[in-house]
Formats: sequence, C-alpha cells, structure tokens
Amino acid sequence: MEAITSIPEIRQKVRALKQEGKSVAFVPTMGALHEGHLSLFRLAKEHADEVVVSIYVNPEQFAPDEDFEEYPRALDDDLKKCEEEGMAAVFAPSDKIMYPGEQFLSIEIDELNEYMDGSSRPGFFEGILLVVNKLFNIIDPDIAVFGQKDVQQFRILQTMVDEFNHDVELLMGPIKRANDGLALSSRNAYLNDEQRKLAPGLYRSLRYVAKQIDDGAKNVDLLVEHQKNELEAKGFKIDYLNVFSFEKMMPVQDLKKDSKYILAGAVYLGETRLIDNLIIEK
Ligand code: AMP
Repeated sequence: MEAITSIPEIRQKVRALKQEGKSVAFVPTMGALHEGHLSLFRLAKEHADEVVVSIYVNPEQFAPDEDFEEYPRALDDDLKKCEEEGMAAVFAPSDKIMYPGEQFLSIEIDELNEYMDGSSRPGFFEGILLVVNKLFNIIDPDIAVFGQKDVQQFRILQTMVDEFNHDVELLMGPIKRANDGLALSSRNAYLNDEQRKLAPGLYRSLRYVAKQIDDGAKNVDLLVEHQKNELEAKGFKIDYLNVFSFEKMMPVQDLKKDSKYILAGAVYLGETRLIDNLIIEK
C-alpha cells in the first residue's frame, strides 16, 4: 500500500468511493500506529463501507519546547498495518502540502480549553482545530472517529462540527490499554524500563478515585489530592488530576445526579507526558 500525498489525489479517491455509493469514515492520526489506533480503524469499519486514514505529525499543535522533532515516525510500518486492516487509502501529506504558505486565519476556542490539556499546552487545541478543519475539507468524510484518550480534543472537535456546520458525524472510540492498564500511546516508546513499570500507576489512581466516587464519596478534592500525593511519592510529576464536567471541561467539586464527568490526569515520568481519563456517569 502506498500513501497518497497530494490533495487532489486523495479528493479523487474519496469521490470515486462515494460515486460507487460507499460511505466513507475517516481516522486522523499522527502515525506510529499502535493497537489503540487500530481499534479506531475497526470501529470506523463497523460504521462505514470504507475507511481513510491520515498520518500527519501536525507542527501547528506542538509548542516550540515540545517533542515535534523526536515524535516517532514509522510510515512504512504504518502503511503495512493500514493495508492489513483493509483501509481504503492513507493520506500522508508533507508540511509543504498542508501549510504551503503563511496562514492568515486561525480558529479561537472559548472556555473549553481553559483547563486540562488546554491550559497546560497553549495553542495545542487551536493547532488541532486548524488541521482537522483542513482535513475534513480535504477528505469530506461521512463519519470521523477519534479516541476517548484525547477526550478534550473530542469535545472541542464536536463543538467545531456543530458550530461550523461540518457535515460529518463524530464517533468516540474507547481507550485501548496494555495488559497492565497503561493507555496505549505513541509516546510510551519514550519510557525506559523503570518508567514503563511505574506508568500504569496513573490508571490505577483514576480507577481508585472513580471507585470511591461510585461508592458515594463526596469530597472529590480530598480524594484527588490524596492520589496526587501518592503518585508524586512514586516518582510522577503531576500536571493535573481532577474531575471535570463533560459539558465544559471545567473542574467540579459537587457531582450531581444524571450528569457526565471526566476524571482526567496528565503526569510526567521524566520528560514523558502521559494522559489518561475515565468517564463518570452519575
Ligand atoms: P494520535 O496519533 O496520538 O494523534 O492519535 C490519533 C487518534 O487515536 C486520536 O483520536 C486518539 O485519541 C486516538 N488514540 C490514541 N491512543 C489511543 C488509545 N490508547 N486507544 C484508543 N484510541 C487512541
């Protein structure tokens, strides 16, 4: 399988599929594909006749001090996986194709990025909105699939689709984990053996807090503070760990009945940033 790198060519490919009467799902990725990505491909396949994947490490969503240069790239391997999964096409453009010149427009986000990754990574979600907006216009899919792993991203993209009238239905796939519970991520490749053994501790902490909430614990702050201390004692550096409303992605103290929340954490092991979350439905 070969990657399609030009915009007219991928447009032509999708158009031809649609002319055959097929529905098209789209899964955007940054490559270095793992089972988490593949689970989204399979979910996409269940909801559409054909699936198009993009592989593009988007420079616009990396801050200058982040890992854009080091981010793992494995295109040949990724193409093999896409072929094995029966993907209809892989769009893997260069930076010149995606950003041929100076950009005069950008998309601003209100409120939904004030906490979680939005506050820790300034410009991150604006960069994602920009590239996904472009990719939706290029691919023109019927359905697009994203992971719960990046739940704030999903919430913000759903808002973009709703407010900007993109004619696409978004689906969220569950988080795929290693046997010990660690959420799969391309960045797990950065972990050394010792860090890899510690890494599932984040998921364990989230599970513990979720269980306490389920059992009726009322003081979320206390629960969360306790888990932060435990993680710090094990060698994690905490970026954030808290319960956020699903609606606005803002921290909450009192959990109300019939509401949806995100229990989310971001931590560092050495230089490596790990994120994970659980959805809590009261
Ligand atoms: P990325 O290549 O990291 O930009 O991720 C591409 C898509 O895969 C995003 O929608 C992610 O949320 C999703 N994803 C990443 N890790 C996982 C995972 N462990 N399980 C399910 N989906 C994932």
